[in-house]
Amino acid sequence: MSKMKAKTKAMRQTYLAHFDECPLSAKFYEDAQAAEVTSHAMARGILFHDFAEIIQGERAGLSDAEIDTIIDELLTSRSDLVLPMRDHDDLRDLCRRWYARFEPAGAGSKTEVKLEVQLAGQRITGRLDLLTIEDAWARVRDYKTNRGLPTAEWVRGSFQVRCYAYMVFVNYPAVTTVEVENEYVRYGAKRSATIERDQFENLEVTLIDIIEKVGEARKSDDWIAVPGTHCNRCANTAGCPISAELRGEGAITDELDATTAASDLVAIEARRKDIIAGLKSWVDENGPVDGGQTRYDYSYSEGERLDKKPKIALKERLGEADIDPAEYWKPTQTTRFIPRKLTEEELEGGDDA
Ligand code: SF4
Repeated sequence: MSKMKAKTKAMRQTYLAHFDECPLSAKFYEDAQAAEVTSHAMARGILFHDFAEIIQGERAGLSDAEIDTIIDELLTSRSDLVLPMRDHDDLRDLCRRWYARFEPAGAGSKTEVKLEVQLAGQRITGRLDLLTIEDAWARVRDYKTNRGLPTAEWVRGSFQVRCYAYMVFVNYPAVTTVEVENEYVRYGAKRSATIERDQFENLEVTLIDIIEKVGEARKSDDWIAVPGTHCNRCANTAGCPISAELRGEGAITDELDATTAASDLVAIEARRKDIIAGLKSWVDENGPVDGGQTRYDYSYSEGERLDKKPKIALKERLGEADIDPAEYWKPTQTTRFIPRKLTEEELEGGDDA
């Protein structure tokens, strides 16, 4: 028998983050990892991170053509990943947008930092895209390739933010403040959370709790399914015991479902427009009408609104009066879910398939 004590199998931070949202999805994630299954979205994320690692390691001042060459080399060399041709332009766009804002990280920063902690008899590992340490302050930057932009509140409460902060506190005892910053690379928008060392015990209790729950699930092989928006990241929706209809906001998890839902929505919106026009005409002549617990009627109001043009003039006036408009106009970064008409070019491109 070997005298060497076997190292416990590590649990990835990502696995725990999945478990935090839906225990069954963590099991699916682990199975997919073991079988080396990688979705297109995951492949795009990995390729982007590879690109960022190359750039952060050495390069500034590259032309678009040089950026394309790096991406082409990545697409060729990562033969373990499958990214369909139709997604190549999206990857290029993502990389270029990020590169346009790229600034070398400078001293005190390291890329692709692997951290490890031992907690409740379990080894936890995490990989940070960029870690900057300046005396007692640390910043973890995590690149996100999603299209949606979550609220700052959502990010502050996320498992990943807490786990990263805990890992930094354990590995860098002199650090008292950790800022975890998610950078949504499509937009250059950032969402961050600052965690102080006095929250350390709280973080530890939360992590121990989740590790223990993982232990119980593994022991009993009982994995609860909890649906939500995270279902779109699930590695095995087909294996989920909850039907798509009952998953609510997590109902759409593949391209066919998404295309069908988008077509349904277009038809519903067109019908809605017709119904509203007809109802308005009826109410105009005949008075209010009730539908279930809702009454439709005309409602008269008076008020005022700030048009776009006066808004610009107002900004100028404030400037003339030595008042900084930034006191009143706060920049916002958000994403809206909006439909738009496809261009003729896009429609033609769609027919090529
Ligand atoms: S589809 Fe949703 S509810 Fe079902 S296992 Fe996956 S993440 Fe959980």
